[in-house]
Amino acid sequence: GEMMANIVHELRTPLTSCSGYMEGLVDGVVPASDDTYMLVHREAGRLSRLVDDLQRLSRVESGKEKIDLIDIPATPFLERVVRRLEPQFREKGVELELLTAPGPITFVADEDKLDQVLLNLLDNGLRYTASGGTVRLSAEGKDGRVEITIKDDGIGISPDDLPHIFERFYRADKSRSRERGGTGIGLTIAKRYIEALGGDIKVESRQGEGTIFTLTFPAASS
Ligand code: ADP
Repeated sequence: GEMMANIVHELRTPLTSCSGYMEGLVDGVVPASDDTYMLVHREAGRLSRLVDDLQRLSRVESGKEKIDLIDIPATPFLERVVRRLEPQFREKGVELELLTAPGPITFVADEDKLDQVLLNLLDNGLRYTASGGTVRLSAEGKDGRVEITIKDDGIGISPDDLPHIFERFYRADKSRSRERGGTGIGLTIAKRYIEALGGDIKVESRQGEGTIFTLTFPAASS
């Protein structure tokens, strides 16, 4: 059906450019330079990210994904996530801030899934924010639940696109998103994962001002 057509289309793009470069190298019309090898490498990376995302999506959609709920102390967990992404943020010149409410919060979540969701949302924040901008990750407890927000002051999302961003393969700006290495299914996976944790995900955005994603899911009773 449409899903299969989408997958085929998404796989074909990086494959075509990979084999295009290789053919050019063999024929001698593309220089055997570091730049060429970097381009091939980038396309191959795109393909493997896409395949990884497709595998996650198919597992979670088949309902076969195991969800392993444990208590996760919020602050060390979030600090670890931030530390892992700091180099990429520094490289682009985007600030990554972490704000946690005073007092300990403990998430009840699947560590790998929550990790995946936050990496994806922060990665988007970075991707769609110009250098000099800021992405802020914050967490607070709210009536037995926790609320995590990821707020950026990037390009924002138009009101026309906003209702569709959690759909599989939806991209607000197709060529630009692909150019920036996006697969168009990161948010679909994030939403499925958060729902599997018994939570939900919401978005608010203004074009030219920025975007806020809000995740809500269960906290451990203290
Ligand atoms: P992609 O891999 O293309 O980023 P996602 O599923 O993660 O796919 O996001 C879907 C679309 O939502 C993106 O193509 C982009 O247009 C939009 N989007 C997601 N996060 C942001 C953000 N923080 N700022 C602006 N646009 C965003």
